Amino acid sequence: MSHPVVIIGSGLAGYNVARELRKLDAAVPLVVVSRDHAGFYSKPMLSNALAGKKTAATLVMKTADKMAAELNAQVLAHAAVARMDTATQTVHLSNGDTLRYRDLVLALGADPIRLPLEGNAADTVLSVNDLDDFARFAEALDTGANGQPVQRVAILGGGLIGCEFANDLLARGIAPTVLDLADRALGRLLPPEGSAYLQGKLEALGAQFRFGVAANAVNRSASGSGLVVTLSDGSELETDLVLSAIGLKPRTALAAKAGLKVNRGVVVDQTLQTSAPHVFAVGDLAEVAGLNLPGLNLPFVMPIMQQARALAATLAGTPTKVAYPAMPVVVKTPACPTVVCPPASGAAGQWLVTEVDEGLEARFVAEGSGQLLGFALQGKATSQRQALAGQVPATLSA
Ligand SMILES: Cc1cc2nc3c(=O)[nH]c(=O)nc-3n(C[C@H](O)[C@H](O)[C@H](O)COP(=O)(O)OP(=O)(O)OC[C@H]3O[C@@H](n4cnc5c(N)ncnc54)[C@H](O)[C@@H]3O)c2cc1C
Repeated sequence: MSHPVVIIGSGLAGYNVARELRKLDAAVPLVVVSRDHAGFYSKPMLSNALAGKKTAATLVMKTADKMAAELNAQVLAHAAVARMDTATQTVHLSNGDTLRYRDLVLALGADPIRLPLEGNAADTVLSVNDLDDFARFAEALDTGANGQPVQRVAILGGGLIGCEFANDLLARGIAPTVLDLADRALGRLLPPEGSAYLQGKLEALGAQFRFGVAANAVNRSASGSGLVVTLSDGSELETDLVLSAIGLKPRTALAAKAGLKVNRGVVVDQTLQTSAPHVFAVGDLAEVAGLNLPGLNLPFVMPIMQQARALAATLAGTPTKVAYPAMPVVVKTPACPTVVCPPASGAAGQWLVTEVDEGLEARFVAEGSGQLLGFALQGKATSQRQALAGQVPATLSA
């Protein structure tokens, strides 16, 4: 019997590759290895779980055992990979076990970026990037302010995740303060008018925004009842809890140690193969490169679904390139329904913004040709999503 296809990681990337592979090949031995519980959950739900009154336990849709049965796979939970040897096609677990592979799929995800904060409470700063993080966050909200539910939360980062958590905290009756060094919310995804529209909707519900400032330190307050965040402009903000949402960094260390080519993410070609034969990378970890670096490192669900289908076909014997159609992202801010389909970075063009009834429609059009290269839709304009997505050129053609 041949060695198995081994997938490291039980997030959306790892499990979607496994599911797609099983559709094409019922027989190949399959092993999913994960350092976490290996239960299946939808990570995007972490930033609207409070409104939905979900807990870390109820967010799990299927346990590791159920996934193993469904996939006809061996699922090794709480099994961290310490190193891999691409010459002998072997994965070494930190408990000393080894696994040989026919093909290896790296679906290791990304780590939250940590700000180098000073202060005696810097270690209390939380970020939410998986179920265990969410459990800690939910517990801190319940009992974080000296055993009492917290009233005030400072969110570091006014990007997609920061704004989603701000909205979700509002749903729980907590007024968040969002801090960002940039001068507006979702600045990389929205035109200035769109940022202002979103900010206005969240402010109307009680959120506050402070732009152009970074957090330098987090200390316990003199009274001991809360936290004090010292900002880069010298001012201070009193709060009960600090949530950091300033971005993610692909977990490239294992791949780098094994000698694989690494840039921002683990570099793969369009068939998702790394620089080593029989080793592939997907999800938040992967940087899909063409001829040039940087390639595309897109930490969203739709690219993962595209990757999973292409890689499954490759693993089942038909080498297949991943293609990305235009992939709009829904920003989960119910206070201001928002869909973004940002233009490729560096695209030459301009935003054309139209106010519509209870919404905003922003089109990013190419200089000269007027070709639609991206868009942002808010409020009632989100109904235009399908129509506009069909006009935007593919992000990556096969
Ligand atoms: C709060 C939040 C909200 C989001 N909302 C949206 C949204 O609305 N729409 C959207 O498109 N995207 C959203 N995203 C992004 C999307 O959820 C991610 O792109 C996707 O879930 C990443 O999946 P992944 O499998 O690549 O990584 P992960 O889910 O992080 O999985 C990584 C896996 O690798 C395992 N692992 C890591 N290191 C090791 C090791 N050494 N040994 C063994 N196992 C290891 C981990 O245990 C884990 O199982 C959101 C992200 C967050 C954090």
